[in-house]
Amino acid sequence: MIIIKTVSELEAYVGRERNNGRSIGLVPTMGALHAGHLSLVERAVKENDDVIVSVFVNPTQFNNPTDLATYPRTEEEDCRLLAKAGVSVAFVPTVEEMYPSGAVRVKEFRLGTAAEVMEGKFRPGHFQGVAQIVCRLFELCRPTRAYFGEKDFQQIAVIRNMVESEGIDVDIVSCPIKRADDGLALSSRNALLTPEQRAIAPEIYKALKTGVEYSKDHGVKETHDKVVALVDANDGLQTEYFEIVDARTLLPVEEWEESPEVVGCITVFCGKVRLIDNIKFR
Ligand code: AMP
Repeated sequence: MIIIKTVSELEAYVGRERNNGRSIGLVPTMGALHAGHLSLVERAVKENDDVIVSVFVNPTQFNNPTDLATYPRTEEEDCRLLAKAGVSVAFVPTVEEMYPSGAVRVKEFRLGTAAEVMEGKFRPGHFQGVAQIVCRLFELCRPTRAYFGEKDFQQIAVIRNMVESEGIDVDIVSCPIKRADDGLALSSRNALLTPEQRAIAPEIYKALKTGVEYSKDHGVKETHDKVVALVDANDGLQTEYFEIVDARTLLPVEEWEESPEVVGCITVFCGKVRLIDNIKFR
């Protein structure tokens, strides 16, 4: 595996591989890698000639400066894991390298209504920052396929919209959520939990699963309220939002029959750590 830190080196690498007709899989990450990330990497390694994994904590997608400052960074260990996973390139740029004119947003991406609800409402500007970095990575890596996790369910929908509005030729591959044995969705932010917080965090997924059972003979609103009550009954957990939405449009549904695929997306504060998860209802 090669570790590349500069844009010029990356472009040279991609140019060579593309000229040789090789397919490229891209896995964008913010590092502090765990088995969730590695499941995407593993799939990309299977499906492509070359795999580039980017490790970059993207400042333009953080709306909270403390969240950015405390975001876990484990670059050396990340590179070790990626080399072991059979990745061709770890792309580990600095902020200056990615944003030579400063880490500011310069254009407005057309991301559709999917970007306006849930995370879009609670983290203003977040998806514009995500679109900015993913679009830049697509330009640099020219991937055949790019891999994203369903843990960030809304992000996948928004990226699909970005790809369409920018006319980018790439196959977006979505991968299932990886969980710890106790059900907690793996996340880099889990490293920020105290042992006490880590012990109650699995209650989020437990509540979602109970919600799915409950939904079999209750309406959408009742199921919503049940899940929120179950989560908030735990000392130290506070739901920010729970929305039951159409999996395609991400707009809220009022009846189960309204949409062929319904997903519940939740965000919970565990102390100061913001955790997200989701589950399929229909
Ligand atoms: P992040 O480093 O948090 O930006 O995540 C990088 C990619 O890994 C995103 O596409 C995430 O959706 C995906 N990812 C993060 N956690 C998980 C997980 N537990 N299971 C599957 N994919 C994940």
